[in-house]
Amino acid sequence: MAVTHFDLLVVGAGSGGFGAALAAARLGVKVLLVEKSDWLGGNATRCGVNVWETGVGGTGIPFDLYRRLAKIPQAIGIYSINRHICWDDPAKGPVFPGGEMLIDPTKRYLDSLTQFGAPEIYGERIFRQTHWHGVPFEPEIYAAEMEKMLTETSCCTVWSNTGCVKVEIDERRIRRLTLSSGHAVTADFYVDATADIVVARKAGCATSLGQEPRLRHDEPSAPREPNDRLNGATLIYRVTRTDQPGIEPLPPEIPATCWWDGQFPAAACTQYPNGDFNINSLPTMQGREMIELGYLKAYDECRRRIRAHWHHTQTVFPEFQAYRMVWVAPGLGVREGPRLLGRYVLTEHDLDRGLTGQTHDDIITIADHCKDTHGADTGHRDSNLKQPYGVPFRCLLPREIDNLAIACRGASFSSIAASSCRLSRTMMQLGQAAGTAAAIAKEKLLSSFAEVPPPDLQTSLTQQHVELTWPRSPELLAWLQNEDA
Ligand SMILES: Cc1cc2nc3c(=O)[nH]c(=O)nc-3n(C[C@H](O)[C@H](O)[C@H](O)COP(=O)(O)OP(=O)(O)OC[C@H]3O[C@@H](n4cnc5c(N)ncnc54)[C@H](O)[C@@H]3O)c2cc1C
Repeated sequence: MAVTHFDLLVVGAGSGGFGAALAAARLGVKVLLVEKSDWLGGNATRCGVNVWETGVGGTGIPFDLYRRLAKIPQAIGIYSINRHICWDDPAKGPVFPGGEMLIDPTKRYLDSLTQFGAPEIYGERIFRQTHWHGVPFEPEIYAAEMEKMLTETSCCTVWSNTGCVKVEIDERRIRRLTLSSGHAVTADFYVDATADIVVARKAGCATSLGQEPRLRHDEPSAPREPNDRLNGATLIYRVTRTDQPGIEPLPPEIPATCWWDGQFPAAACTQYPNGDFNINSLPTMQGREMIELGYLKAYDECRRRIRAHWHHTQTVFPEFQAYRMVWVAPGLGVREGPRLLGRYVLTEHDLDRGLTGQTHDDIITIADHCKDTHGADTGHRDSNLKQPYGVPFRCLLPREIDNLAIACRGASFSSIAASSCRLSRTMMQLGQAAGTAAAIAKEKLLSSFAEVPPPDLQTSLTQQHVELTWPRSPELLAWLQNEDA
């Protein structure tokens, strides 16, 4: 069998994989990016999660991508929260099925770059309406633009419809991967960006699944005993305006009442740049149930549930009778799976201490999303963060393998830390750090990711406009104000 060699092999072309491949290829690293599906973008495109949630840190590759998309009509926008079920008058009952996020042409990218500091009670609306502005985009245009950015480097080869099926190890190094196409590929360095850390698990790295016991990391919100609860999964669907209003008929085999819970879940309803709505029911299925059913059965069951959910939404909230369902995401949105037990585990303490209390010298991105466990609640105290926290590079590094980095939601986070850290832009920034580290390793002839000097990595990331400190520097602020470059 012919074996092809690259400097860097990135497995999985979601947010993390795209960030890794682009950062490395821009720095002259010869990259192969393999993706098992026919879409680039992963959860953010194929699973319909077409919104960058509000938060600090997305100033590197995400901003580059934003600026390109902003030049394309109806490709990307910034939202403001219009209505929210928590803001309804309890005496009158809900007037909207969840949160309504509408494209707000008055907002700029900078407006999407902070979340921390919100009052704990969700019924408070002023802070949220003033400060929380996410970034919805058109998934197909987004995926196409990703591909163009990779192609423009002339250093990145992309193989779609190609999964990693086998990993061979030689002591502490990955020696080669076998792909579903039958190809064998070797590389000096590897990035696992598969979300479910397929490569790390096949390589025998230590992992964990579910909620850790409180004693493991001494996290105040962790349960006393470990359990297999996982953040919920959602099947996203899209609705568009129709000139023939009405309630779409429900197939006879699907009940009109909610059969899996006491009531239908609330939904985040986010406007696409073209005016359609993205419906994200919170969640469609508990994470544990999804694992028990297996992916294919879970997907089919979620398809039934969203039909019932849509029927309920149109029945109870008549304004939705002016819309019809036009698209169901071909992939189920999975929020949580196995996670690496790496050289450092990010925990609730990092989230609570924030940058002023952390002492890590290898921070490669910052984040500030709340502790956010859809359907897997542990009774968090103080879900909203008081300041941004940093993610150390060691969260990407397995203890067992030297030439592998993990740049996806399965990096080395506790379950609680993952509930905050997993957002798409943060994953892209993890990827940007992994790809940049591969470039430094190549330049300095290093054999291990762990040998990459943190100051060199941080200097290169800062040159690429990645946000590593808070408050935001005047230079970065000026860079972010220049959306039209
Ligand atoms: C329903 C839902 C709503 C969310 N809402 C938001 C939100 O509003 N805003 C926000 O910022 N974040 C949100 N998130 C979180 C965020 O979207 C994800 O955590 C993030 O996109 C994950 O990125 P990733 O790179 O880790 O993985 P993914 O995007 O899942 O990418 C992994 C890629 O690896 C590929 N792959 C898997 N196995 C293999 C293999 N063996 N070989 C080759 N390729 C493989 C997959 O096909 C996929 O393309 C949400 C998540 C969900 C599920």
